[in-house]
Amino acid sequence: MSTIIPIRIRITLALIGLLLLVSCSIQQRVVTPANPTPTPEPLLFDGERAYDWVQKQCDLGYRITGSEANRLAGDLILAELQDRGWNTAEQTFTYQATPVRNLLAWQGEGTQALLLGAHYDTRRAADMEDPTIPVMGANDGASGVAVLLELARVLEWRAPESRIYLAFFDAEDNGRLDGWEWIVGSTYMAEHWGKSGEPPLKAMILVDMIGDADQQLYYEGNSDASLRQQIWSRAADLGYDTRFIPEPRHTMIDDHVPFLQRGIPAVDIIDFDYPYWHTTQDTPDKVSAASLTAVGHTLQIWLENWMPQP
Ligand SMILES: [Zn+2]
Repeated sequence: MSTIIPIRIRITLALIGLLLLVSCSIQQRVVTPANPTPTPEPLLFDGERAYDWVQKQCDLGYRITGSEANRLAGDLILAELQDRGWNTAEQTFTYQATPVRNLLAWQGEGTQALLLGAHYDTRRAADMEDPTIPVMGANDGASGVAVLLELARVLEWRAPESRIYLAFFDAEDNGRLDGWEWIVGSTYMAEHWGKSGEPPLKAMILVDMIGDADQQLYYEGNSDASLRQQIWSRAADLGYDTRFIPEPRHTMIDDHVPFLQRGIPAVDIIDFDYPYWHTTQDTPDKVSAASLTAVGHTLQIWLENWMPQP
């Protein structure tokens, strides 16, 4: 089947076509600046990239405090932060005759600061299953670090008169083994905060065990109520309301506690319903990029809208 178009309409159509072509080319000339300068795309948290950091850490082996793999993990973290243009510092001390190294990175200048932290060491015994084998810590350790490293790439810190810190704590996870305490690195950092000129902290956010592919993030019992409500509400805005559940569940001794004890509002983002906790099964296949995205994207948007406190 075909349509016969009368000749006068054909001429009119041709004219309209020509006019459209002319107007299009004029419009194009108008919108194209003489010296085009590319606008940089805002970077968005990428869960696949974060997942690569989980894998890279696990490829180093068990990152037990004082071990060679722990030292290599610390070096990997520092190198990445420096490549991304962050200022960095190391905080070293000895605990139970073992060298401990916390890492810090920061951006911005001002009279107040916000700290985002994760532990990078892994537990030396999988005592929930077989204490003769260490924990790989894909979720318990590597997932939090992975979120921080991907945030280091994408975060656009723009809060005036303030500084953001990324903290990588050592010696969090050997509690109750050979007389060790939990949260050794973060306790040391909180005790020494300000002694090298760090501005006072207005908030502290901890990410720990946030990569579980079966993710449910409930309110943690010790966390600051107002701060956790802000973050969970931001997550809901971004469509992560089935992952961030605004109801209390577990109460943790974790790296946020030493900061809370110094009066700093702190929140622990943690999914403690993880069947592989302190077992030999805490491996990268239990972690998903989508779970890392839910946490990283939420924190990116929350941080990029954070304003200094009065
Ligand atoms: Zn642990």
